[in-house]
Formats: sequence, structure tokens, C-alpha cells
Amino acid sequence: MERIDGRNKDEKRIINIIKDYIKYPDGSVLIETGNTKVVCTACIEDKVPPFLKGTGEGWITSEYGMLPGSTQSRKPRESSKGKVDGRTMEIQRLIGRALRSVVDLKLLGERTIWIDCDVIQADGGTRTASITGSFVALACAMEKLSKIVEFESYPIREFVAAISVGIVEDEPLLDLCYEEDSNAMVDMNIIMTQSGQLVEVQGTGEQRPFTREEMDELINLGQKGIMELIELQKEVLGESASKIGSSKQ
Ligand code: UDP
Repeated sequence: MERIDGRNKDEKRIINIIKDYIKYPDGSVLIETGNTKVVCTACIEDKVPPFLKGTGEGWITSEYGMLPGSTQSRKPRESSKGKVDGRTMEIQRLIGRALRSVVDLKLLGERTIWIDCDVIQADGGTRTASITGSFVALACAMEKLSKIVEFESYPIREFVAAISVGIVEDEPLLDLCYEEDSNAMVDMNIIMTQSGQLVEVQGTGEQRPFTREEMDELINLGQKGIMELIELQKEVLGESASKIGSSKQ
């Protein structure tokens, strides 16, 4: 089977991460993966939500949105009354969980890191691009914070990235574009750390159920893509990448 953009089955889209894309946040990137483009920012606030007050622990939380013109048919802005739809809620909570899984929130102290992911062009895989990009934005913000605050050890334990995989016409494929995603028998989003540990797997066999063997094959494909993404994150972060994972535990 030929892929719509001529890629091999295990080939991810062309990816580009531009660091310091926005001037004011503590960390920011533009991540482009094929035709999907997301701006991710990280802003540090010196307070925590009420449930963490007095605990000494920090928090990482995320918001996600799509520009009205980012999709093939215009997506109206979400209500300004603070209500977001189910998909948006699911995605923003996913991004928060993914990043918290690799940060020691005790070392962070009573601070909140706000991660904002804004999709400016959507062509499949916006949540996975948001996670991969916002990890870099978070790492930039942490690097900045580490120049002001003396951390006992570095709060980021390891790298994390995410990619989509799926089964299209019975073929397992890496990094689906919208066209593939909308025809997929099975689609799955995989979030994994540098050490190959899974943070989350969201897999759905909507057109047909899938076997354990197929799931393993998809996870192996995803792992290959994620390790390549982490190499790129390291390259983009340059010297500050070496601090990640340098904490004592
Ligand atoms: N999409 C869209 N409008 C929407 C939601 C999604 O056009 O309201 C498109 C968009 O290209 C997106 C793709 O459908 O990337 C797949 O959406 P999904 O909910 O699976 O999330 P994603 O793959 O972006 O994480």
C-alpha cells in the first residue's frame, strides 16, 4: 500500500521544532510535523492550586485550543465562559499528565507551570505534537528557573515525547496524517519516556477490534518514532538537555 504522502510505513512526517518562538513566556516552541503546526508555551507562576497549598509541591497544568482557521472546515472558537468541549478537555488533561510524569513536583516547589498548546494548523496528531513540543517548552522554562532557584537536583527526570500510530487498510503505520487518521481501522496515541517506559496509550479499534499482537506491533512502531523525536528534542535543547535526568534519584 502506498501512503498518501509516499512515506514508508515506519516513517514519521518531517518534523521541525523552533525554540524561543514567542518572546514573553519562560519557554516556547513552534512544532511542525508535516502539515500539523502547534505553538507551545510554558509560563511559570509562583503559586499553586489550593489543593497543593502548604505541601511544598508544584504543579504542571495544560490548556489546548485550535484556531478557527486551523482545520479544513472552520472550527468556531470555544465559549469564552470557560467551558470547553469534551475533546479539548481530554487533550489538555492528557498533556498535563504526560509532562507531570517526568517532573519531580517536590523539587519544583510551590510553583505552577502553565503549558498552553495552540494548534495553528491541524492535519492529524495535534495532541501528540503538543506533548512533544511542550516538553521542549517546559525544559526551556525549567532551565530559566534553575538560574534563579537553586534546585537540590534537576526536577526533570527524563525526556518524554508522543506520536500516533494506527492500522489503515490492515497495515500498521507510524504518525498518521488527517487523511490516514480519518480512514484508520485502529488508531492509537502513544506517550513514552526516553527509557522506553509507557506513560499513556490511547488506542481505539472503532472500525474493528485489534489483537494483542497488533497492539505490540503498533507500540514498537511508536517507540521507534518516539526515540527519533527525543533525539530531535535533545538537539533543539542543546546544552541544557544534559541536565535532564541528572537528578540523584
Ligand atoms: N479535526 C478537525 N476538527 C476538529 C477536531 C479534529 O478538523 O474539531 C481534525 C484535525 O486535523 C485533527 C484530526 O482531525 O488533527 C484528528 O483529530 P483527533 O481528535 O484524533 O486528535 P489529534 O489526532 O489531532 O490529536
